[in-house]
Amino acid sequence: MLQSSRRKPIESEKNDMSQDKSTRDLLQIKDQNIINFKVQDTSRDALRIYADLTYSVSVCPRCGKHKIVKNGAKSVNIRIPNISERTALLVLRKQRFLCKACGHTQIAQTPIVMKQHQISQNVKHGITKELTTDRSMVSIAAQYNVSTNTVSRQLVALGKQTRPAYNGLPSSLCIDEFRSTGDQMSFIAIDAKKIRSYHHLAWTKEQRYWRILPKSLLSKE
Ligand SMILES: [Zn+2]
Repeated sequence: MLQSSRRKPIESEKNDMSQDKSTRDLLQIKDQNIINFKVQDTSRDALRIYADLTYSVSVCPRCGKHKIVKNGAKSVNIRIPNISERTALLVLRKQRFLCKACGHTQIAQTPIVMKQHQISQNVKHGITKELTTDRSMVSIAAQYNVSTNTVSRQLVALGKQTRPAYNGLPSSLCIDEFRSTGDQMSFIAIDAKKIRSYHHLAWTKEQRYWRILPKSLLSKE
C-alpha cells in the first residue's frame, strides 16, 4: 500500500523490508524505490509480481515551487526476464505527483524501464547479448516472449556500426569464407580500415549482413 493511515508494528515492517530485499535480489532490481513486492501465481500464463514505485519529490520541474503532492498511482505491466522458464510480468504501481501551484503532473520513473516503455532494461540487455550469438531473431523473440520487431529495434539501437553499408564498398576489403553452422559455408567481408574499431562486433555484423552478399556488390571491384 502506498498510503496507510495506520502505523504498522515494527516487526512486521522489518519482515516486509527483508522480503522486499529478497525479491529485489531475486529479480535483480537495484532500485530501492520499488517496494511492497507481492508475487501472484494464480493464472496459468504469466507469473505476476506486484510492486509499488514511490519516492518524494519536493520541487516542481516546471514552476520550481515546493507544492508537490502525491496524487494516486498508475499501474503498468513491465516485461522482465523469465523466472524458471515462466513468463514474468512486473505490475508496477507508479506514483503520480501533482503540483498544486501550476497543475503539472508527473509519474515516478525508474532505471529498470525507460519512460513510456513496457520492456525492462534487463530484458533488453539479454536480447542484446543474444544478438551477438549465431541465433535467429525469431528464436530470440520467442525466448524473451517479445515480438520480432522488438528484437529488430534492439539491433538497430546497437548503433550505426551494426547496420549494413548500402552506400558502396570500402576502399580496402578483407574477404574470406569459412565453415559456419553444420555444412554451411559462409562468406565474410570486413572493412580493413575499421577492423580495429568494431572487432568485437565483427562476427555479429558479418553473420547477419554479409553472409549472403549480393553478386552485384562483389563484381563492382
Ligand atoms: Zn509546478
